[in-house]
Amino acid sequence: MDLSYYVCPKCGKRFSDEEMEFVRCSYCGGKVLFKETPPLAKKVRTD
Ligand SMILES: [Zn+2]
Repeated sequence: MDLSYYVCPKCGKRFSDEEMEFVRCSYCGGKVLFKETPPLAKKVRTD
């Protein structure tokens, strides 16, 4: 699964890969940057 997303540094709005059709933020018109979700979601085994 691709967990990467886009974020607008101006207003802090986040866009998922599906929502992000344009390079610009649809809220403030700022340039949206590509970001990747840090590998925090480690699966913990409980056995
Ligand atoms: Zn914005």
